[in-house]
Amino acid sequence: MILVKVVVIALGGNAFLRKGQRGVVDEQWDNVSKAMKQVADIVEKGYRVILTHGNGPQVGNILEWMEALAYKIPPLTMDIANAMTQGWLGYMIQQALHNELMRRGINRVVLPIINRVLVDKYDSAFRNPTKYIGPYYTKEEAQEIAIKKGWIMRLDPRGGWRRVVPSPNPIDNLEVEAIKKLVNEGYIVIASGGGGIPVIKENKEFRGVEAVIDKDLASEVLATKLGADYLVILTDVDGVMLNYGKPSQKLLRKLTVSEAEKLYKAGHFPPGSMGPKVLACIRFIKHGGEKAFIGHLYKALDTLEERSGTVILPD
Ligand code: ADP
Ligand code: MG
Repeated sequence: MILVKVVVIALGGNAFLRKGQRGVVDEQWDNVSKAMKQVADIVEKGYRVILTHGNGPQVGNILEWMEALAYKIPPLTMDIANAMTQGWLGYMIQQALHNELMRRGINRVVLPIINRVLVDKYDSAFRNPTKYIGPYYTKEEAQEIAIKKGWIMRLDPRGGWRRVVPSPNPIDNLEVEAIKKLVNEGYIVIASGGGGIPVIKENKEFRGVEAVIDKDLASEVLATKLGADYLVILTDVDGVMLNYGKPSQKLLRKLTVSEAEKLYKAGHFPPGSMGPKVLACIRFIKHGGEKAFIGHLYKALDTLEERSGTVILPD
């Protein structure tokens, strides 16, 4: 019997936009196409693949368009902005991966889905929003917006005042049973884009909220609920480093979940970048996953087969 491993692959921001680029559409296609060569290598090896992706810069763009054109077109809400990025980026991944697989003579359907992720309406993040989103404003503009729209505005250390929104913990993936069926049928599903559309349950109904779910944590929920064997988080560095950015920086090739947890708790990995990736891997292993990986997008198969990157394993 051939054992088919089920792999959830989370694509980082560099799958669409690389450092120094403005995000011209041709650049985006070029980046996605390069990324999908890496994913195709994994598909070609016989792994069963589910893709997730970030959306930071793109959802930022959409929110900025909404603001800039508000005098003409009524602005929409953040959950809808997230759904828009699932369509935008999901389509780009679909097209690029389908083309790459066809080039290799592999006949597979690539299927992006609109996907909601459940959060708790009592999550403390709703009382303490921390995630910067959308355009930068001057202090005066920010004060005016705060009064007019009721947004919470904070000074972003990267330069300027911005809206902050809650980043609640993902609890469940509402479409996971359908995704499981599609995966079992051989479809390559793209799900939980941008961390998924955040929804809460209230009075027996689901409702979208003004929040952003971390894509790495949402990928873990998807991988766990699917019963995936592996979680692979691809980004723009070679893996998890100790003393990152210092002369003593060192790539960690292999960590047990306890070792990873110890380093995480000691504050070695900053929130908003490497922190959630390591936390996602810890949760995945604790929830029964076999292996979790963090590595460079352009070394995807090497990361999965442990020739590169960081692997996190049960104790
Ligand atoms: P992605 O879009 O892939 O989620 P992020 O910017 O959120 O990318 O996270 C990747 C970044 O994390 C790297 O570019 C790196 O600058 C940063 N980083 C912070 N701490 C570490 C660390 N300990 N090891 C490796 N990278 C780190
Ligand atoms: Mg990130």
